[in-house]
Amino acid sequence: MSLDGTYDDGNIFAKILRGEAPAARVFEDDHVLAFMDVFPQARGHTLVIPKHSTARNLLDEEPRVLSALILGVQRVSRAVRAALNPDGLMVSQFNGAPAGQTVYHLHFHIVPRWEGEALGRHGAGGMADPAVLKALAEQIAAKIS
Ligand code: AMP
Repeated sequence: MSLDGTYDDGNIFAKILRGEAPAARVFEDDHVLAFMDVFPQARGHTLVIPKHSTARNLLDEEPRVLSALILGVQRVSRAVRAALNPDGLMVSQFNGAPAGQTVYHLHFHIVPRWEGEALGRHGAGGMADPAVLKALAEQIAAKIS
């Protein structure tokens, strides 16, 4: 998938938004939804997506949607920090398959990092236990302010 293309509303994040696929939901408001990544690169790996968007990537997005989205990313990042006390936080976003993108609904990754702990490979880790993700989602949700 290149940078160009048409939004496909059968993508997994669109299904999560419509309630057609499960997710360990952390937070939502009128603009964004945050949930746990099922193939986490680190404990607490969280995704934030715009709720009302047909942007496949950052380049496609409307400024007003992007503004609300990045504020959501900051809010959830603060909650991840408060809940899990990482030494660092990686915030990332990939555009197009050659850059590592695998789901074509715009999203940001929030990946907590701890000193001395290696980062899992993007898209190459195992699937997390849903019960563990649910517990992490609740921990992070409790720190949303
Ligand atoms: P990207 O590769 O940047 O497009 O990121 C997509 C992310 O979505 C990857 O980190 C996947 O692990 C994650 N992912 C794929 N399917 C699901 C799902 N059903 N629920 C939560 N995360 C998912």
